[in-house]
Amino acid sequence: MSRAQDELLAALSQLLDDTVLLRGDGIPQKARSDASLSGRSLPWLYVRPVTVEQVAIALRACDACRWPVTVQGGMTGLAGGANPERSDVVIALDRLSGIEDIDSAAGTMTLRAGTVLEVAQKAAEDAGFLLPIDLGARGSCQIGGNIATNAGGIRVIRHGVTRDNILGLEAVLANGTVISSMNRLRKNNTGYDLKQLFIGSEGTLGIITRAVIRLQPLPSGKATALVALSNYDHAVALLKRAQAGLVGLSAFEIMWDNYFSFSSKGEGLTLFDRSHPFVAIIEQSGTPDNDNLETFLGTMFEEGLIEDALIAQSEKESRQFWAVREGAAYDRLEGLINFDVSIAIGQLGAFAEACEIALREKYPDAHIAFFGHMGDSNLHIAVSVGPTDDATLHAIDAITYGAVKQFKGSISAEHGIGLLKRDFLGHSRSPEELALMRSIKKALDPHGILNPGKVLPPA
Ligand SMILES: Cc1cc2nc3c(=O)[nH]c(=O)nc-3n(C[C@H](O)[C@H](O)[C@H](O)COP(=O)(O)OP(=O)(O)OC[C@H]3O[C@@H](n4cnc5c(N)ncnc54)[C@H](O)[C@@H]3O)c2cc1C
Repeated sequence: MSRAQDELLAALSQLLDDTVLLRGDGIPQKARSDASLSGRSLPWLYVRPVTVEQVAIALRACDACRWPVTVQGGMTGLAGGANPERSDVVIALDRLSGIEDIDSAAGTMTLRAGTVLEVAQKAAEDAGFLLPIDLGARGSCQIGGNIATNAGGIRVIRHGVTRDNILGLEAVLANGTVISSMNRLRKNNTGYDLKQLFIGSEGTLGIITRAVIRLQPLPSGKATALVALSNYDHAVALLKRAQAGLVGLSAFEIMWDNYFSFSSKGEGLTLFDRSHPFVAIIEQSGTPDNDNLETFLGTMFEEGLIEDALIAQSEKESRQFWAVREGAAYDRLEGLINFDVSIAIGQLGAFAEACEIALREKYPDAHIAFFGHMGDSNLHIAVSVGPTDDATLHAIDAITYGAVKQFKGSISAEHGIGLLKRDFLGHSRSPEELALMRSIKKALDPHGILNPGKVLPPA
């Protein structure tokens, strides 16, 4: 250890005990990388605070020593934002967890940042509410991580992104100051809305420690269908019709056949008797039965907009449909790269074609598959060319983000920028916007200790 490390450790050890400060073999392997699997190093010190005060103590000491800190939540991020350098201190939030309060009259939940999303969802359900944030990583990701990445997910079409469901939050600044902005009111126009600074800031402006979430009434039932389509224009038309004609439309996701076939095979399911260019998954919530969805799909079939449809007859079948959409088979693909981009809905089909052509020019045998939250203009692209090195990763990024730029899209719809997309941020943000972001970072974290090198490219 260097002298500076000795000094920092001595300062921390005066105020935090061995259950909070872990080193060497005590540091869990999961601290190396988020779900992008791009992290290479464990940090030299791993801090596991149980209280907000302990977060503040750790940050104050690191700031005084100008020491880099990486913030870790559930480690399900896909942008490398929580990956540490060997010389970093990690502050991990998993022990700062638990639900503090559910206010049934107001429909709010107050909870600590390290609470796992699924735990919070279950608590809301037990109290008769729906917690509107939901994503495939629900069993591991934390509310703090969801807020820090402004996560999207499968309910955005109905309830918006994480930002739309947060009423208040508490965050600790780099110098240890606790900003408690735990608003519970829907209307509160009292100066700058400070929580917005931290939502989506990916741990670069402060560590989120607590939050107030707006809950929704628990839907009385749901219906799920898989719908086969012959072309992308029909998918756009179907989405419009569903938005206008289906009460309680809560999900509209699309899979290109390259994704659907691979994923359903991985799940051991044969769902349609032949392949179709596109398959959509449609979900309607708040309805006691399937009647409305069945009538709607019948009309769509008669009008020639859809080729086939399957309506889930049980919760098990509904879960199978969603399992195909969540695509666990992809996790087993070697060197998988996940892209998460936004393109105007009408252009998504053309973009996918252009992007695949561009990728195949250089990687003709690549596995390329498209799927996404179509109702939110959000496309995911799964690319695998087998074992990869950093140069290949960068080349694939450059081709894909080049196509995004050409279609005037966003290089990150919901996963954030982190480290992996940092050098392409200029494809989606102007120099003036980047300069303002740097000024905000400087104001909140003048010594640049929080998640250094993440989100903002070097000036
Ligand atoms: C199977 C799977 C499905 C997914 N589906 C979706 C999806 O549909 N939509 C979507 O948006 N994402 C999705 N993701 C990505 C990921 O789950 C989200 O980005 C999630 O919000 C990250 O939460 P986390 O707690 O795991 O954060 P981490 O991965 O630990 O961290 C993510 C970023 O937030 C920062 N951070 C974490 N906690 C805090 C905190 N308390 N305060 C300040 N900064 C913090 C970290 O430094 C890092 O920059 C998926 C991932 C997987 C593996």
